[in-house]
Amino acid sequence: MAAIALGSNLGDRAAHLAAARRALAALPGTRLLRTSTVEETAPLGGLDQPAYLNQVALVETSLEPRALLEACQAIERAEGRTRGARWASRSLDLDIIRYGRRMVAEPGLTIPHPELPNRDFWQRGLAEIETHE
Ligand code: ATP
Ligand code: MG
Ligand code: MG
Repeated sequence: MAAIALGSNLGDRAAHLAAARRALAALPGTRLLRTSTVEETAPLGGLDQPAYLNQVALVETSLEPRALLEACQAIERAEGRTRGARWASRSLDLDIIRYGRRMVAEPGLTIPHPELPNRDFWQRGLAEIETHE
C-alpha cells in the first residue's frame, strides 16, 4: 500500500483533487482504498501564494515506486501543471509519502518522503487512512 499526498493551490482546487482521485483509481493494477478529509493549509515557507487544499490517499498498487512516480507526474500534467520552482503554485502536486515499508533513495525519488516529519497536515491525513497492524 502506498500513501500519496494530493495538493492544489491554483484554479478549481477541489476539482483538481477530484480528478487526481479518479486518475489514481484508474491506474493499471491500482485500487484507491481510502482518502483523508481535505484540509486547507497556508503555503509552505511563508510564501505569498494562495492557500492549498491537501488530502492523503491510500492506494493498493502493483506499480513499482518509479512507475508510480511517473504515473503521478502524468496526472499532474493532465491537470495542467507546469514545472515551476520547487514549492511554486501548482494546479496539482502528487507526492509519494510512503510505499509500504520500502525505502527508496535514488536520484529523483526518495521514499518515505523526507518532508513527512515537517508536514503535520500529511501526518493528520495518514492517521485518518492508515490501518495499524
Ligand atoms: P516537495 O517534494 O518538498 O513537496 P514539490 O512537491 O513542490 O516539493 P516537485 O516540483 O513536485 O516538488 O517535485 C520535484 C521532484 O521531486 C520531482 O521531479 C521528483 O523526481 C522528486 N521526488 C523525489 N521524491 C519524491 C516523492 N517521494 N514523491 C514525489 N516526487 C518526488
Ligand atoms: Mg510537494
Ligand atoms: Mg511534488
